[in-house]
Amino acid sequence: MSKQASTGTRAGRPTLYNLDRDGTLIRTILDKVTSPPNLAPTELAKLLRQHPLPGGQILPKSHLLRAYRQLCARDGTPVNAEVMRRLRVKPTRTASGVAPVSVLTKPYPCPGACIFCPGVDGMPKSYLPDEPGAMRAASYSFDPYGQTAGRVAVMSELGHQVDKVELFILGGSWSCYPEDYQEWFVRRCLDALNGSDAATLEEAQQLNQTASHRNVGLVVETRPDLVTTEEVRRLRWLGVTKVQMGVQSLDDRILALNRRGHTVADTRRAMRLLRLAGFKTVLHWMPNLLGATPDTDRADFGRLWSDPALRPDELKIYPTALLPATELVEHWQRGDYHPYDEETLVSLIATCKTLIPPYCRVNRLMRDIPAPNIVAGVKRSNLRQIVQARMAEDGLACRCIRCREVRGSAVDVDALHLDRVGYSTDATEEVFLSAATPDDKLAGFVRLSLPHAAPPLAELAGCAVVRELHVYGYALGLGTRQPGAAQHAGLGTRLLHLAQRTARQRGYGRIAVIAATGTRLYYRKRGFRAGELYMSRPA
Ligand code: SF4
Ligand SMILES: [Zn+2]
Repeated sequence: MSKQASTGTRAGRPTLYNLDRDGTLIRTILDKVTSPPNLAPTELAKLLRQHPLPGGQILPKSHLLRAYRQLCARDGTPVNAEVMRRLRVKPTRTASGVAPVSVLTKPYPCPGACIFCPGVDGMPKSYLPDEPGAMRAASYSFDPYGQTAGRVAVMSELGHQVDKVELFILGGSWSCYPEDYQEWFVRRCLDALNGSDAATLEEAQQLNQTASHRNVGLVVETRPDLVTTEEVRRLRWLGVTKVQMGVQSLDDRILALNRRGHTVADTRRAMRLLRLAGFKTVLHWMPNLLGATPDTDRADFGRLWSDPALRPDELKIYPTALLPATELVEHWQRGDYHPYDEETLVSLIATCKTLIPPYCRVNRLMRDIPAPNIVAGVKRSNLRQIVQARMAEDGLACRCIRCREVRGSAVDVDALHLDRVGYSTDATEEVFLSAATPDDKLAGFVRLSLPHAAPPLAELAGCAVVRELHVYGYALGLGTRQPGAAQHAGLGTRLLHLAQRTARQRGYGRIAVIAATGTRLYYRKRGFRAGELYMSRPA
């Protein structure tokens, strides 16, 4: 059946089925979806193939989801959260417990002159027009409201819970954009989550505390040399909770060769400021830059952990991609730059992954660059899987957070055991308290900073700081409980109590938290009170 022949519509988009004609078939499929205890994605695909529409067409999962909602509305029955979970399209997207929504800022000049960075007209610096996220943003003319509202609508339609949203503001270096643009951008993202327009940023933040799409994390990306005390204050005022920084290398010779325009000292200073201000940190690291070899890269990666001033919470490994119209291509043409071959890159990353401590999460192993843009070098988009297969073959393991998250598995909260990993930085003692299942999967964790240096923001003086509290499991509806799911089973409260006790035992009279706008009520219920930029309570 062609799309033209479809008869049902939802939100103006055509459906392949006709509820009057195909209702019985769809109910048969749904009965089977709901009966086995745990229908695997492959079983659902098989089921859909076994029950084609009259014209022979296989019903896509997204259409089955729509049909289910329509049948519920027709029957006057509530939508069942468990059925929705089983029908969810791309379930891993919310497997970390929150719905990630990425938005891009408008094209704007960046003061950097990095030799590997593409600059394409009409795109924020470093983005390519055919990258999926960039294409989406351009289709909304980089409007923050349209991008946020559009993403929330699509994710809801695909069966995801989007009541807890982590907003990723991407694009050029955030700190370079004009201040009024930054303020407007964040306000309009919140307006889209709130479903109403606020006159000021503060009003939008206030409204979001009780909105149906709450902002539980706000992430921006910037350069180490742009992180100052004033910038840190401003980021917090905007509601930012996590900062991504491209540091790329920890070797001043390599940074200079690639014209990064900052030094390792800038990175160390920025990390200290951000950590003392309670932010979560994500570093981007690039192997295979000009002047690097697999051996120097291995040593460079080791510095991320051996240098107490670094030790990031999260990491993105972006192997250098050779992109058109960059200075790096000229080096390659002259023969003084060579992209690593696949074997070299896979074995380098596999070795690097064994060095990652359990308090760090590796978010990505490759940027989402469509292969036709890559002039030479590894073009695989599934590098993570290839590296994982290699590590399994060689008996190596990655202990990072991402590799240990429970994701969709059921969690018996009573069977969890607590782990404590402590490590020092140049300005704090860090305590990473986690709850793990009997098979060592992570159900949740809290990051507690115990500073021994003066914080950049006076409000935090004398405070231990909860920099992150995360409970895994599928994102559940606010206030709902689902047997076996880690979220809302009191695990967050238990971890928070543990952090408080640790702070108290270590002599801190107060404990503060860097609370995203949409988590303020959660912390208020647990005795925290709002200050100027943080929430805190007696430890
Ligand atoms: S700082 Fe980032 S955006 Fe700016 S030129 Fe360098 S890589 Fe590109
Ligand atoms: Zn890992």
